[in-house]
Amino acid sequence: MVRRMSVVVITGGSRGIGAATARRAAAAGWDVCLSYVSDAASGDQVAADCRAAGRAAVSVRADVTSEDDIAALFAAADELGAVTALVNNAGVVAPTSLVQDMSADRLQRMFLVNSVGPFLCARAAIGRMLAAGRGSIVNVSSRAAALGSPGQYVDYAASKAAIDTFTLGLARELAGDGIRVNAVRPGIIDTDIHGSGGDPGRAHRLAPTIPLGRPGTADEIANAIVWLLGDEASYVTGSILDVSGGR
Ligand code: NAP
Repeated sequence: MVRRMSVVVITGGSRGIGAATARRAAAAGWDVCLSYVSDAASGDQVAADCRAAGRAAVSVRADVTSEDDIAALFAAADELGAVTALVNNAGVVAPTSLVQDMSADRLQRMFLVNSVGPFLCARAAIGRMLAAGRGSIVNVSSRAAALGSPGQYVDYAASKAAIDTFTLGLARELAGDGIRVNAVRPGIIDTDIHGSGGDPGRAHRLAPTIPLGRPGTADEIANAIVWLLGDEASYVTGSILDVSGGR
């Protein structure tokens, strides 16, 4: 099979799963346009790592909740070449809370970043993919979507369930256009996100609950994402792949 790669846009590529995906994608032959929202130094470092792997790469400050930022992100990607891939990776959690205590501001932020942002980024990508005649979108969901995360963050789980349904619908909507859409559902992965939710030790504390007995690494999720992006997954669309150390 002839490999056809060009530019992949990766949201939240400055740290964790997104950074690992950027590095893995560059190693696989993609040029990379990644976004961050606050950590410019980390975003620049990941882009430099991608360039060291021999690919073009840029890091752009772009909040996935801002249409203007998304337009600037894709304009920067256009400078690298034809955008034929998107990884909707940026996501947030909030501190553990019961639903009855969740503020409207928290809920709006959670759904804006985790659910609306991927729609807006896909919207920007689809026109470019239609023009290119091909494309691949990978949405980063969570096993929480299937579990509901009671007593922890039902809002986060529900925002990721929206991503699963988005994946199914968009995959069917675009199948006739040569654009594949899939999702990866990570389990408990050792990244900064647990600290940002107020519980930095969470991934290792929960290790005994995972069939494989340990949290996953960002690289293990990146491997699945980059496989779904590329031509080796040419007959895969509308799939939701659990990468969770068992279930
Ligand atoms: P992380 O280490 O906290 O990194 C989050 C990334 O998203 C950072 O690059 C951050 O940018 C960026 N980001 C945050 N808010 C953003 C916004 N509004 N607009 C654009 N970018 C934004 O998270 P992670 O663990 O790698 O998680 C990546 C994805 O995997 C998320 O969708 C998460 O829900 C999902 N996931 C993670 C786990 C896990 O256990 N880690 C499990 C299941 C699913 P800055 O660096 O600038 O802050």
